[in-house]
This record gives sequence, C-alpha cells and structure tokens, in this order.
Amino acid sequence: MSERSEIEWTDATWNPVRGCTKISPGCAHCYAETFAERFRGVPGHPYEQGFDLRLVPEKLLAPLSWRRPRMIFVNSMSDLFHQDVPDEYIVSVARTMAQARWHTFQVLTKRSERMSELLRSELEFAATQPHIWWGVSVENRKHGVPRIAHLQQAPAVMRFLSIEPLLEDVGKLDLRSIDWVIVGGESGPGARPMQPAWVRSLRAQCRQGRIPFFFKQWGGRRKALAGRQLDGRTYDEMPRRRLQPTESTIAAP
Ligand code: SF4
Repeated sequence: MSERSEIEWTDATWNPVRGCTKISPGCAHCYAETFAERFRGVPGHPYEQGFDLRLVPEKLLAPLSWRRPRMIFVNSMSDLFHQDVPDEYIVSVARTMAQARWHTFQVLTKRSERMSELLRSELEFAATQPHIWWGVSVENRKHGVPRIAHLQQAPAVMRFLSIEPLLEDVGKLDLRSIDWVIVGGESGPGARPMQPAWVRSLRAQCRQGRIPFFFKQWGGRRKALAGRQLDGRTYDEMPRRRLQPTESTIAAP
C-alpha cells in the first residue's frame, strides 16, 4: 500500500493482495513481479515472499483512514480476481470501496471472466457505485480484446480499458459503454516496441466515440527519454463520475 503513486493515471495504490501469476503475453515483463522478487527473503519486508500470492487482511480497511479524496489503483501489485483469492475476500475488498465513497477506486484485471461473473452476483452492490471503476487490460487481439466483451456484460456503472502494454495493432474495437481508455507502451529491459499508428488508431476511435483518452507513455528501455507526447501534445483525459455527465473532460479534437 502506498499513499502516493508514480503511475500517471492514479494518486495512490492499495494492495490488500500481494503477488500474482502470469496469464497472458502482457504479463511477460510484469513490473510488479520484478519489484517483488527483489525483496524475496528479506525478513520483515512486505515482499519477503517475493511474488507468491498472499492475502493481506490487515490492509483491508486502509482507505477508510485516508481522509483526503484520492484516485486509488486497487492491487497494483496483484490481480484481485486471481483464482487463489476467495470470493469472500473480494467481497470484503469491495465493501471497503463501497464504504469509502469520498475516494475513486480503479480496479483493473486480466481475469475478466471472473470479474464479470462476480459483478453480476456477489459484487452487484459495488458494480452500481459510480466511484468504483472496473477495468480490463488489453494487450493484443487474441488475449486482450475478448476481455472487453466480458466487461461490457457486467452491470458496471464505470468501465475502463488499460491498453498497455500495447503489443500490436488491435484493430477496430467495440467501445460501446466504455467510459475511459488508457494507452501505453511497454517499458524497461526487453520492452517490446509500440508503433505510433497503433496509438493513433485508438485515439481516433476514442474521438469518434467521445471517450476520454489517456496516453500514458511510449515506453522503451528508458521511458523518460521516449516521453508521453503524441503528435506534439499530451493526452491526460479522465472520465467524470457518471452522475456528473455535464462535467465532461473530453478535450477538443
Ligand atoms: S496479471 Fe498483472 S500482476 Fe499478474 S502477472 Fe500479469 S501483469 Fe503481473
């Protein structure tokens, strides 16, 4: 858990689960794994067990003690819908989010089928809360694009896509009922390159659908050098909560 985050599209991170296992090509250079494994075996460190998945129940209520409203990325170091996280534990995480209404929570997963099922059952109470945003990762056509339909099938009030690391041209997407799109390239050693044309296509589709578009980074081995400008400007568009549709932040094309 951290009250501050360096991730461009959030303010803070909250990790009531730590660790994960890889599920698709977007996981190949998982930053969370690299970070966690650095501390494997360090006594008393939160990542003493490296990237092995474990629940952290003592962190379940943490956001309730943060009085200042924040955008909170839930499980930046894990995947809440991993098969080893029990349904009851996920419900406990959602209860905290539902209670802490002054924050905005961003839940992002690659386990989209499980998220979709739970949002239609045990998590229905949280799906309808506009301060809880539900998102899926989309890195390619084969593994990433099908997750969009799972998200659309869920009765979520706020839905977003994290198209990162963008590994290929994902083509024309069905963006109906999607409230926000984040796009970014992979960074760090061995980063797989992203073509500008792939990003421009997504920007155009967002423009057409009047969907806020956030361009996070080009990535590469040294991401600071590549920067985050696209055709001479940055794109930091964010959705407003659905209850405030007149306050749209969509920038002029
Ligand atoms: S799902 Fe996310 S946290 Fe889990 S291994 Fe893949 S990239 Fe890492």
